[in-house]
Amino acid sequence: MKKKYFIHTFGCQQNVADSERIAAYCESLGMKKAATIEEANYCVITTCMIRESAENRVYGMVNNLIPLKEKKKKAGEEFEIVVTGCMTGMAHRDTSGKMMKELRRRMPAADVFLPLEEIGFERAPLRETSETALIPISNGCNNFCTYCVVPYTRGREVSRAFEDIVKEAKEAFDKGFKKVLLLGQNVNSYGSDIVLEGKKQQELKPIYVTHLGKHRIPTLFPHLLEAVAKIGFDEVNFISSNPWDFSDELIDAIATHKNITRTFHLAVQSGDDNVLKRMNRWYTAAEYIDLYNRIMKKMPEAHVTTDIIVGFCGETEKEFQNTVKLCKKIHFDRAFISIYSNRRGTHAYKHIPDDVPHTVKDKRWKMLDKLVNSQFYTKNKLV
Ligand code: SF4
Repeated sequence: MKKKYFIHTFGCQQNVADSERIAAYCESLGMKKAATIEEANYCVITTCMIRESAENRVYGMVNNLIPLKEKKKKAGEEFEIVVTGCMTGMAHRDTSGKMMKELRRRMPAADVFLPLEEIGFERAPLRETSETALIPISNGCNNFCTYCVVPYTRGREVSRAFEDIVKEAKEAFDKGFKKVLLLGQNVNSYGSDIVLEGKKQQELKPIYVTHLGKHRIPTLFPHLLEAVAKIGFDEVNFISSNPWDFSDELIDAIATHKNITRTFHLAVQSGDDNVLKRMNRWYTAAEYIDLYNRIMKKMPEAHVTTDIIVGFCGETEKEFQNTVKLCKKIHFDRAFISIYSNRRGTHAYKHIPDDVPHTVKDKRWKMLDKLVNSQFYTKNKLV
Protein backbone atom coordinates (compact mmCIF):
# COMPACT_ATOMS: atom_id res chain seq x y z
CA MET A 1 0.00 0.00 0.00
CA LYS A 2 1.23 3.49 -0.85
CA LYS A 3 2.43 5.63 2.05
CA LYS A 4 0.26 8.75 2.60
CA TYR A 5 1.58 12.19 3.46
CA PHE A 6 -0.04 15.12 5.22
CA ILE A 7 1.51 18.60 5.41
CA HIS A 8 0.66 21.27 7.97
CA THR A 9 2.08 24.73 7.29
CA PHE A 10 2.75 27.45 9.84
CA GLY A 11 3.75 30.98 8.86
CA CYS A 12 4.09 33.00 5.70
CA GLN A 13 3.50 32.57 1.96
CA GLN A 14 7.11 31.48 1.55
CA ASN A 15 6.34 28.55 3.83
CA VAL A 16 3.22 27.73 1.79
CA ALA A 17 5.42 27.69 -1.33
CA ASP A 18 7.93 25.45 0.48
CA SER A 19 5.13 23.06 1.41
CA GLU A 20 4.05 22.89 -2.23
CA ARG A 21 7.56 21.69 -3.08
CA ILE A 22 7.56 19.27 -0.16
CA ALA A 23 4.33 17.77 -1.54
CA ALA A 24 6.08 17.24 -4.89
CA TYR A 25 9.03 15.69 -3.04
CA CYS A 26 6.69 13.26 -1.18
CA GLU A 27 5.02 12.25 -4.44
CA SER A 28 8.41 11.68 -6.03
CA LEU A 29 9.04 9.16 -3.24
CA GLY A 30 5.86 7.35 -4.28
CA MET A 31 3.55 8.73 -1.58
CA LYS A 32 -0.07 9.85 -1.98
CA LYS A 33 -1.74 12.85 -0.34
CA ALA A 34 -3.83 11.96 2.74
CA ALA A 35 -7.19 13.65 3.17
CA THR A 36 -6.72 13.95 6.94
CA ILE A 37 -3.86 13.73 9.38
CA GLU A 38 -5.38 10.53 10.85
CA GLU A 39 -5.13 8.86 7.45
CA ALA A 40 -1.46 9.79 6.99
CA ASN A 41 1.69 7.88 7.84
CA TYR A 42 4.10 10.68 6.92
CA CYS A 43 3.24 13.94 8.62
CA VAL A 44 5.29 16.99 7.64
CA ILE A 45 5.17 20.18 9.69
CA THR A 46 6.55 23.30 8.02
CA THR A 47 7.54 25.53 10.91
CA CYS A 48 7.79 29.27 11.54
CA MET A 49 9.92 31.16 14.08
CA ILE A 50 8.88 34.72 13.50
CA ARG A 51 7.52 34.97 17.05
CA GLU A 52 7.83 32.83 20.13
CA SER A 53 4.10 32.07 19.92
CA ALA A 54 4.65 30.55 16.45
CA GLU A 55 7.32 28.24 17.86
CA ASN A 56 5.08 27.28 20.76
CA ARG A 57 2.29 26.34 18.36
CA VAL A 58 4.70 23.95 16.62
CA TYR A 59 5.71 22.33 19.91
CA GLY A 60 2.02 22.05 20.83
CA MET A 61 1.09 20.43 17.54
CA VAL A 62 3.90 17.86 17.56
CA ASN A 63 3.19 16.90 21.14
CA ASN A 64 -0.53 16.63 20.46
CA LEU A 65 0.29 14.04 17.79
CA ILE A 66 1.70 11.62 20.39
CA PRO A 67 -1.64 9.81 21.06
CA LEU A 68 -2.20 9.37 17.30
CA LYS A 69 1.32 8.04 16.87
CA GLU A 70 0.80 5.56 19.70
CA LYS A 71 -2.58 4.47 18.36
CA LYS A 72 -1.04 3.83 14.94
CA LYS A 73 1.86 1.96 16.50
CA LYS A 74 -0.55 -0.35 18.36
CA ALA A 75 -2.39 -0.98 15.10
CA GLY A 76 0.94 -1.86 13.46
CA GLU A 77 0.84 1.25 11.27
CA GLU A 78 3.71 3.57 10.50
CA PHE A 79 3.49 7.25 11.52
CA GLU A 80 6.55 9.39 10.92
CA ILE A 81 6.62 13.00 12.12
CA VAL A 82 8.86 15.22 10.01
CA VAL A 83 9.72 18.73 11.18
CA THR A 84 11.01 21.13 8.55
CA GLY A 85 11.05 24.87 7.79
CA CYS A 86 12.55 27.68 9.83
CA MET A 87 13.05 25.88 13.15
CA THR A 88 14.91 23.03 11.47
CA GLY A 89 16.85 25.50 9.32
CA MET A 90 18.07 27.42 12.35
CA ALA A 91 18.97 24.24 14.25
CA HIS A 92 21.00 22.97 11.28
CA ARG A 93 22.90 26.25 11.10
CA ASP A 94 23.65 26.31 14.81
CA THR A 95 27.10 24.73 14.90
CA SER A 96 26.99 24.36 18.70
CA GLY A 97 24.22 21.77 18.26
CA LYS A 98 22.32 23.32 21.19
CA MET A 99 19.24 24.21 19.21
CA MET A 100 18.88 20.75 17.67
CA LYS A 101 19.21 19.28 21.15
CA GLU A 102 16.46 21.58 22.35
CA LEU A 103 14.17 20.70 19.43
CA ARG A 104 14.62 17.00 20.18
CA ARG A 105 13.95 17.59 23.88
CA ARG A 106 10.82 19.65 23.30
CA MET A 107 9.47 17.44 20.49
CA PRO A 108 10.41 13.89 21.46
CA ALA A 109 7.79 12.50 19.05
CA ALA A 110 9.49 14.04 16.00
CA ASP A 111 11.30 11.43 13.91
CA VAL A 112 13.06 13.52 11.30
CA PHE A 113 14.32 17.13 11.11
CA LEU A 114 14.38 17.75 7.38
CA PRO A 115 16.36 20.79 6.13
CA LEU A 116 14.64 22.54 3.21
CA GLU A 117 17.88 22.42 1.25
CA GLU A 118 17.19 18.72 0.72
CA ILE A 119 13.96 19.51 -1.11
CA GLY A 120 15.49 21.78 -3.76
CA PHE A 121 13.72 23.31 -6.76
CA GLU A 122 14.08 20.53 -9.34
CA ARG A 123 10.51 19.24 -9.06
CA ALA A 124 7.48 21.23 -10.19
CA PRO A 125 5.53 22.22 -7.05
CA LEU A 126 2.12 20.73 -6.33
CA ARG A 127 0.23 23.98 -6.06
CA GLU A 128 -2.42 24.33 -3.36
CA THR A 129 -4.63 26.80 -5.17
CA SER A 130 -5.53 27.23 -8.82
CA GLU A 131 -5.65 31.02 -8.75
CA THR A 132 -2.26 32.36 -7.70
CA ALA A 133 0.97 30.56 -8.51
CA LEU A 134 3.49 31.10 -5.72
CA ILE A 135 7.00 31.19 -7.16
CA PRO A 136 10.04 31.54 -4.88
CA ILE A 137 12.75 33.56 -6.59
CA SER A 138 15.29 33.53 -3.78
CA ASN A 139 15.77 32.12 -0.34
CA GLY A 140 17.44 33.58 2.72
CA CYS A 141 18.49 37.11 3.56
CA ASN A 142 21.74 39.06 3.86
CA ASN A 143 20.35 42.01 5.74
CA PHE A 144 20.53 40.96 9.39
CA CYS A 145 17.98 43.40 10.77
CA THR A 146 18.82 43.15 14.45
CA TYR A 147 15.36 41.92 15.51
CA CYS A 148 14.94 39.25 12.83
CA VAL A 149 15.67 35.51 12.83
CA VAL A 150 15.36 34.94 9.08
CA PRO A 151 19.09 35.15 8.18
CA TYR A 152 19.65 32.46 10.82
CA THR A 153 16.69 30.24 9.91
CA ARG A 154 17.03 30.45 6.11
CA GLY A 155 20.67 31.44 5.76
CA ARG A 156 22.23 33.84 3.26
CA GLU A 157 20.31 34.97 0.20
CA VAL A 158 20.53 32.55 -2.71
CA SER A 159 18.78 33.49 -5.95
CA ARG A 160 17.28 30.93 -8.28
CA ALA A 161 18.42 31.05 -11.91
CA PHE A 162 16.59 33.72 -13.91
CA GLU A 163 15.57 31.34 -16.69
CA ASP A 164 14.27 28.69 -14.23
CA ILE A 165 11.93 31.24 -12.66
CA VAL A 166 10.64 32.47 -16.01
CA LYS A 167 10.17 28.85 -17.15
CA GLU A 168 8.21 28.01 -13.99
CA ALA A 169 6.05 31.12 -14.46
CA LYS A 170 5.34 30.19 -18.11
CA GLU A 171 4.35 26.68 -17.08
CA ALA A 172 2.00 28.05 -14.43
CA PHE A 173 0.47 30.43 -16.98
CA ASP A 174 -0.01 27.59 -19.47
CA LYS A 175 -1.76 25.59 -16.75
CA GLY A 176 -4.29 28.41 -16.37
CA PHE A 177 -2.97 30.45 -13.44
CA LYS A 178 -4.12 34.05 -13.81
CA LYS A 179 -2.03 35.49 -11.00
CA VAL A 180 1.53 35.01 -9.87
CA LEU A 181 3.24 35.93 -6.62
CA LEU A 182 7.05 36.14 -6.68
CA LEU A 183 8.45 35.36 -3.27
CA GLY A 184 11.67 36.13 -1.47
CA GLN A 185 12.75 37.58 1.88
CA ASN A 186 13.89 40.56 -0.14
CA VAL A 187 12.82 40.29 -3.78
CA ASN A 188 14.42 43.66 -4.58
CA SER A 189 17.92 42.30 -4.14
CA TYR A 190 17.19 39.30 -6.36
CA GLY A 191 20.22 38.31 -8.38
CA SER A 192 22.88 40.17 -6.40
CA ASP A 193 24.62 36.85 -5.68
CA ILE A 194 24.35 35.83 -9.35
CA VAL A 195 26.05 39.06 -10.44
CA LEU A 196 28.66 39.13 -7.68
CA GLU A 197 29.66 35.54 -8.32
CA GLY A 198 30.07 36.41 -12.01
CA LYS A 199 27.57 33.79 -13.16
CA LYS A 200 26.12 34.04 -16.64
CA GLN A 201 22.82 35.94 -16.58
CA GLN A 202 21.80 36.28 -20.23
CA GLU A 203 22.43 39.79 -21.51
CA LEU A 204 21.01 41.47 -18.43
CA LYS A 205 22.64 44.61 -17.18
CA PRO A 206 22.64 44.69 -13.37
CA ILE A 207 21.04 47.67 -11.70
CA TYR A 208 22.97 49.13 -8.79
CA VAL A 209 21.17 50.24 -5.65
CA THR A 210 22.56 52.76 -3.22
CA HIS A 211 22.05 52.22 0.49
CA LEU A 212 22.26 55.27 2.73
CA GLY A 213 24.27 56.90 -0.02
CA LYS A 214 27.22 54.52 0.28
CA HIS A 215 26.50 50.83 0.06
CA ARG A 216 25.86 49.48 -3.43
CA ILE A 217 24.51 46.13 -4.50
CA PRO A 218 23.57 44.91 -7.95
CA THR A 219 20.07 43.56 -8.61
CA LEU A 220 18.30 41.88 -11.50
CA PHE A 221 14.80 42.13 -10.04
CA PRO A 222 13.41 44.83 -12.39
CA HIS A 223 14.42 42.61 -15.36
CA LEU A 224 12.84 39.53 -13.78
CA LEU A 225 9.62 41.33 -12.98
CA GLU A 226 9.33 42.58 -16.56
CA ALA A 227 10.03 39.12 -17.98
CA VAL A 228 7.28 37.61 -15.82
CA ALA A 229 4.85 40.47 -16.56
CA LYS A 230 5.31 39.92 -20.30
CA ILE A 231 4.10 36.30 -20.01
CA GLY A 232 0.54 37.65 -19.82
CA PHE A 233 -0.74 37.08 -16.27
CA ASP A 234 -3.68 39.26 -15.18
CA GLU A 235 -1.79 40.14 -12.03
CA VAL A 236 1.85 39.97 -11.00
CA ASN A 237 2.60 40.44 -7.30
CA PHE A 238 5.76 40.28 -5.26
CA ILE A 239 6.72 40.15 -1.60
CA SER A 240 8.79 41.07 0.51
CA SER A 241 10.13 44.26 -0.90
CA ASN A 242 12.67 46.14 1.17
CA PRO A 243 12.50 49.93 0.89
CA TRP A 244 16.25 50.37 0.64
CA ASP A 245 16.59 48.26 -2.51
CA PHE A 246 13.65 49.80 -4.35
CA SER A 247 15.36 51.38 -7.35
CA ASP A 248 14.00 53.93 -9.83
CA GLU A 249 14.41 51.24 -12.49
CA LEU A 250 12.04 49.04 -10.49
CA ILE A 251 9.49 51.84 -10.25
CA ASP A 252 9.76 52.36 -14.03
CA ALA A 253 9.38 48.65 -14.75
CA ILE A 254 6.23 48.48 -12.64
CA ALA A 255 4.78 51.66 -14.10
CA THR A 256 5.29 50.29 -17.63
CA HIS A 257 3.35 47.08 -17.06
CA LYS A 258 -0.27 47.51 -16.06
CA ASN A 259 -0.55 43.91 -14.85
CA ILE A 260 2.06 44.44 -12.12
CA THR A 261 0.54 45.21 -8.74
CA ARG A 262 0.02 48.80 -7.62
CA THR A 263 -0.17 47.77 -3.97
CA PHE A 264 3.23 47.85 -2.35
CA HIS A 265 4.07 46.46 1.03
CA LEU A 266 7.06 48.47 2.23
CA ALA A 267 7.99 47.76 5.82
CA VAL A 268 9.13 51.02 7.42
CA GLN A 269 9.42 49.60 10.97
CA SER A 270 10.17 53.01 12.51
CA GLY A 271 10.12 56.66 11.56
CA ASP A 272 13.17 57.49 13.64
CA ASP A 273 16.68 57.37 12.18
CA ASN A 274 18.34 56.24 15.39
CA VAL A 275 15.87 53.41 15.88
CA LEU A 276 16.37 52.42 12.23
CA LYS A 277 20.11 52.35 12.88
CA ARG A 278 19.64 50.14 15.95
CA MET A 279 17.46 47.88 13.81
CA ASN A 280 20.19 47.83 11.12
CA ARG A 281 17.74 49.07 8.50
CA TRP A 282 19.58 50.75 5.64
CA TYR A 283 17.50 53.91 5.14
CA THR A 284 16.51 57.06 6.92
CA ALA A 285 12.94 58.24 7.46
CA ALA A 286 13.57 60.94 4.83
CA GLU A 287 14.73 58.33 2.30
CA TYR A 288 11.62 56.26 2.96
CA ILE A 289 9.38 59.29 2.41
CA ASP A 290 11.33 60.08 -0.75
CA LEU A 291 10.72 56.53 -2.03
CA TYR A 292 6.99 56.90 -1.28
CA ASN A 293 6.90 60.18 -3.21
CA ARG A 294 8.81 58.72 -6.17
CA ILE A 295 6.34 55.82 -6.38
CA MET A 296 3.32 58.14 -6.09
CA LYS A 297 4.70 60.48 -8.73
CA LYS A 298 4.91 57.67 -11.29
CA MET A 299 1.79 55.80 -10.10
CA PRO A 300 -0.65 58.10 -8.29
CA GLU A 301 -3.09 55.19 -8.07
CA ALA A 302 -0.64 53.16 -5.92
CA HIS A 303 -1.46 51.87 -2.44
CA VAL A 304 1.14 51.36 0.25
CA THR A 305 0.93 49.13 3.31
CA THR A 306 3.62 48.75 5.92
CA ASP A 307 4.97 46.98 9.01
CA ILE A 308 5.86 48.93 12.13
CA ILE A 309 7.46 47.72 15.34
CA VAL A 310 6.67 49.76 18.45
CA GLY A 311 8.75 49.66 21.60
CA PHE A 312 11.96 48.45 19.96
CA CYS A 313 14.96 48.36 22.33
CA GLY A 314 15.56 51.79 23.83
CA GLU A 315 12.76 53.52 21.88
CA THR A 316 12.22 56.88 23.60
CA GLU A 317 8.99 58.88 23.47
CA LYS A 318 10.69 61.30 21.06
CA GLU A 319 11.74 58.46 18.78
CA PHE A 320 8.23 57.03 18.83
CA GLN A 321 6.81 60.47 17.99
CA ASN A 322 9.00 60.47 14.87
CA THR A 323 7.16 57.32 13.76
CA VAL A 324 3.88 59.13 14.43
CA LYS A 325 5.10 62.06 12.33
CA LEU A 326 6.04 59.76 9.44
CA CYS A 327 2.63 58.10 9.59
CA LYS A 328 1.01 61.53 9.31
CA LYS A 329 3.07 62.36 6.23
CA ILE A 330 2.41 59.11 4.38
CA HIS A 331 -0.95 57.64 3.57
CA PHE A 332 -0.66 53.99 4.51
CA ASP A 333 -3.65 51.90 3.50
CA ARG A 334 -2.85 49.67 6.40
CA ALA A 335 -0.04 49.17 8.91
CA PHE A 336 0.71 45.82 10.50
CA ILE A 337 1.91 47.07 13.86
CA SER A 338 3.63 44.76 16.27
CA ILE A 339 4.82 45.20 19.80
CA TYR A 340 8.52 44.41 19.96
CA SER A 341 9.43 41.16 21.63
CA ASN A 342 12.88 39.70 21.85
CA ARG A 343 13.60 36.82 19.46
CA ARG A 344 16.15 34.30 20.62
CA GLY A 345 19.21 34.09 18.38
CA THR A 346 18.94 37.62 16.98
CA HIS A 347 21.53 40.37 17.37
CA ALA A 348 19.10 42.46 19.45
CA TYR A 349 18.45 39.52 21.78
CA LYS A 350 22.16 39.19 22.46
CA HIS A 351 23.29 42.81 22.44
CA ILE A 352 20.48 45.39 22.84
CA PRO A 353 18.40 45.43 26.03
CA ASP A 354 14.64 45.09 25.53
CA ASP A 355 14.02 47.88 28.03
CA VAL A 356 10.75 49.56 27.03
CA PRO A 357 8.09 48.64 29.61
CA HIS A 358 5.20 46.59 28.25
CA THR A 359 2.63 49.20 29.35
CA VAL A 360 4.46 51.82 27.26
CA LYS A 361 4.67 49.49 24.24
CA ASP A 362 0.97 48.75 24.56
CA LYS A 363 0.06 52.43 24.77
CA ARG A 364 2.14 53.21 21.68
CA TRP A 365 0.58 50.31 19.76
CA LYS A 366 -2.95 51.51 20.54
CA MET A 367 -2.15 55.10 19.61
CA LEU A 368 -0.55 54.20 16.28
CA ASP A 369 -3.17 51.61 15.39
CA LYS A 370 -5.88 54.21 15.87
CA LEU A 371 -3.97 56.79 13.84
CA VAL A 372 -3.13 54.57 10.87
CA ASN A 373 -5.69 51.80 10.78
CA SER A 374 -9.00 53.32 11.89
CA GLN A 375 -10.01 54.11 8.29
CA PHE A 376 -9.12 50.56 7.25
CA TYR A 377 -11.23 49.10 10.09
CA THR A 378 -14.21 51.33 9.25
CA LYS A 379 -13.97 50.57 5.53
CA ASN A 380 -13.86 46.85 6.17
CA LYS A 381 -16.55 47.02 8.89
CA LEU A 382 -14.15 45.69 11.52
CA VAL A 383 -15.33 48.11 14.20
S1 SF4 B 1 15.28 42.19 5.48
FE1 SF4 B 1 15.49 42.24 7.68
S2 SF4 B 1 13.39 41.79 8.42
FE2 SF4 B 1 13.48 41.14 6.28
S3 SF4 B 1 14.03 38.97 6.35
FE3 SF4 B 1 15.94 40.12 6.10
S4 SF4 B 1 16.71 40.42 8.17
FE4 SF4 B 1 14.53 39.84 8.34
